[in-house]
Amino acid sequence: MATYLKSGKSDVEIQESQAKVQEIVSGIIKDVEQIGDKAVRALAEKFDNWKAENFRLSDTEITEIVKSVPEQTINDIKFAQAQVRNFAEKQKESMKDIEVETLPGVILGHKNIPVNSVGCYIPGGRYPMVASSHMSILTAKVAGVKRVIACTPPIKGEIPAATVTAMYLAGANEIYILGGVQAMTAMAVGTESIRPVDMIVGPGNAFVAEAKRQLFGRVGIDLFAGPTETLVIADETADAEMVATDLLGQAEHGPTSPSALITTSKSLAEETVKEIERQLEILPTADIAGVAWNDYGSIILVNSLEEAVTEADKLAYEHVEVLTEDPNYFLKNMTNFGALFLGPETNVAYGDKVIGTNHTLPTKGAARFTGGLWVGKYLKTCTYQKCTPEASVVVGEYGSRLCELEGFMGHKAQADLRVKRYKKDTVKN
Ligand code: NAD
Repeated sequence: MATYLKSGKSDVEIQESQAKVQEIVSGIIKDVEQIGDKAVRALAEKFDNWKAENFRLSDTEITEIVKSVPEQTINDIKFAQAQVRNFAEKQKESMKDIEVETLPGVILGHKNIPVNSVGCYIPGGRYPMVASSHMSILTAKVAGVKRVIACTPPIKGEIPAATVTAMYLAGANEIYILGGVQAMTAMAVGTESIRPVDMIVGPGNAFVAEAKRQLFGRVGIDLFAGPTETLVIADETADAEMVATDLLGQAEHGPTSPSALITTSKSLAEETVKEIERQLEILPTADIAGVAWNDYGSIILVNSLEEAVTEADKLAYEHVEVLTEDPNYFLKNMTNFGALFLGPETNVAYGDKVIGTNHTLPTKGAARFTGGLWVGKYLKTCTYQKCTPEASVVVGEYGSRLCELEGFMGHKAQADLRVKRYKKDTVKN
């Protein structure tokens, strides 16, 4: 049986704070829907102290912003974008259109059609999340989305220059300095100054993630991608310094970001706790990471690798790092995770910023039913069909009886008319 050596906040406490977030978000959505730009303006001022005349950046403003960014930063962004593009293009190649003859004269197919317009949210309340630009905008462009608009909030009253540069280099057609629920709602339902889109995507804090959930249906969404979560699975071969670094390295995202260690080794668990305490003394973001670790951190001691898989699948965390002798065991056996990081040579920071897999990943157990953002999320797999007259008669005779079985007499009439029409034609020919 797995033993919790440390646990985070209880489910009840988490649900209570989630209920408060839901209420705030539904109020903001209603305001933006009813009052449009005027509400967006008031909310931007209230939450971000942002009073721009236009939320949308003009081409001249974008050029000036890009010019202000150091060359090394631009080269680094371009390197990361090349990695994301390479992998996304390969993934797109795997999304084949198909057309097959399933019975003589019956042709069935499917076609992958890009969504026409997408709104990408690039988070930036606490840190400028430059990398989210590659993950959402660039991937949408690789998928073939024609209109890609993107919003990011100001940071401490300033336009985040590196983020805007990444948004531009990724191919955004319209860039807005606007954050939070007001940005998500404006993109989804439209305002006087923002034309609505068909789908909203991208990660964000609990408010942003909840906004996506509430707006789903009126627009498409990618997935539920809220405050980041990280799990390290480690055995006695792991290095406690590395385990602690990788747990705190994600806890710094925000004070509600959970991190967990599942281990078969009690001594590694004890060493990791000591290391976490030591590192919290020196980590520049310890004020956030320390709160997240205290409130949402957990350590689970298991008796075997099988039990580690069971516990990890129960958590269904966004990021799962495997620091064990045979990391591939987890690739083979785990079923619920956003992304796996196998072996000590890679880590979540590579995935978040540069290696090329998408960093927008499922949180709060959503890994039980979805993977992360990728080109496939922007493509609608739509079917079509055709029949020869002879095939229509064969299918129609079955179809007529099956429609009658369900009491659908109008449907039956559709089938019967074809049988009558094409049987006659077939006999005539
Ligand atoms: P953010 O851009 O998501 O949110 C900032 C906005 O939140 C502000 O513009 C403001 O309008 C709004 N806001 C703040 N307080 C509010 C309140 N009390 N009521 C209503 N709205 C409020 O930036 P952030 O806060 O720094 O969060 C980024 C998040 O994105 C982190 O939690 C991080 O873990 C998460 N993230 C998740 C993934 C993923 O794939 N799951 C990837 C990257 C980042």
